[in-house]
Amino acid sequence: MPDIMLEIKNLHVHYGGIHAVKGVSLSIPRGSIVTLIGANGAGKSSVIRSVAGLVKGASGEVILTRRAGDAPLSLLGQQPEDMVRHGIALSPEGRRILPHLTVAENLTLGAWCREDKDGIARDMERVYQLFPRLAERSWQKGGTLSGGEQQMLAVGRALMSQPDLVMLDEPSLGLAPLLVRDIFGIINRINAEGRTVLLVEQNAYAALSIADYAYILEVGSVVLEGPGKDMLANPKVKEAYLGG
Ligand code: ATP
Repeated sequence: MPDIMLEIKNLHVHYGGIHAVKGVSLSIPRGSIVTLIGANGAGKSSVIRSVAGLVKGASGEVILTRRAGDAPLSLLGQQPEDMVRHGIALSPEGRRILPHLTVAENLTLGAWCREDKDGIARDMERVYQLFPRLAERSWQKGGTLSGGEQQMLAVGRALMSQPDLVMLDEPSLGLAPLLVRDIFGIINRINAEGRTVLLVEQNAYAALSIADYAYILEVGSVVLEGPGKDMLANPKVKEAYLGG
């Protein structure tokens, strides 16, 4: 029996009359990389944004067991800042960094829930090691970074809260092929350092290649699931998501 860190049970998301997520259940074992893949509008962002406390119209259950042996916590309905305090961080899709603040200020903001100055400085150095491009641009305003650099900053900022679980919303979006390879390498390193990863991606090949387990979402429902490597070999997945 794997040690389950996060369980999403029967999650529904309604936006007015739109039923965007229709009873999704996912298990995220501690220390794993789990990916959620699917086409545009399948509901992937809605699932992780619900876990981050950002979706008002979400119902179902989100159960977190922060450390093995701890009592499980029921999270759905809590505020985004509570989720960060519970050790869950979201790196949002696209350019959701603060454009008027510098790279260093954006990263510092990611550590808002911490008071250990030395630890924050160490983690900022660690982010700069992972993303040397950000180190070169620490003084630059976030809004003047390229799309790919902003994506890196969003991932780096999520790491600054020292999360146990990091949720990444399409981290490869808009990146050139070489940078796509880099970002998946970095996700592996983040995981190897002990963080559990929930990865939302449209780049199905890359995501399935690094994922321990994968869920395929279509129009708000999970239609297939299994170990990443099995999904890569699955004829239905090949046809629909891997270009045959
Ligand atoms: P993409 O890969 O294009 O980002 P996704 O799989 O992440 O898509 P979601 O962003 O979760 O999908 O969207 C699922 C559905 O819910 C879409 O039809 C979208 O238009 C709708 N939706 C998402 N957010 C809202 C919102 N705030 N208000 C109304 N509808 C929304």
